[in-house]
Amino acid sequence: MDFGNFGVVNFTKEAKSVAFVDYLSEGKLMGTECKKCGKKYFPPRMDCAKCFDSEVEWFEIKGPGKLVTYTTVNFGPSGFEEVQPYTLGIVDFPEGVRVLAKISKKIDPTSIKAGMELRPVPQQLSEEKLTYEFEN
Ligand SMILES: [Zn+2]
Repeated sequence: MDFGNFGVVNFTKEAKSVAFVDYLSEGKLMGTECKKCGKKYFPPRMDCAKCFDSEVEWFEIKGPGKLVTYTTVNFGPSGFEEVQPYTLGIVDFPEGVRVLAKISKKIDPTSIKAGMELRPVPQQLSEEKLTYEFEN
């Protein structure tokens, strides 16, 4: 798989971090950690922005994490017309990364509040398209 299989709309098929999409197809949301300095990244980076080393290892983001903030998108960008309105959240995970994603529509929007616990759940959008969202 490659980034052509990721997300509703994407602009880059090829990337050094392409294993991210394979992990997602196995039901795992993964970040990377620099082997040299220990800096963690999500979205994954194959080159450390802190120490410029390129030795990284993958780690799974399982959560649950805590919702830091959220917003409802009533008029989404191109490709998201059919899913709007939707709620985006930023979640801090105990694994050491902060992740932005859509909050599942299975969660009643009126029950969403900062501090609630959420987990990242890989989603099959279509036969070939994958993404992830937050569920509780
Ligand atoms: Zn580093």
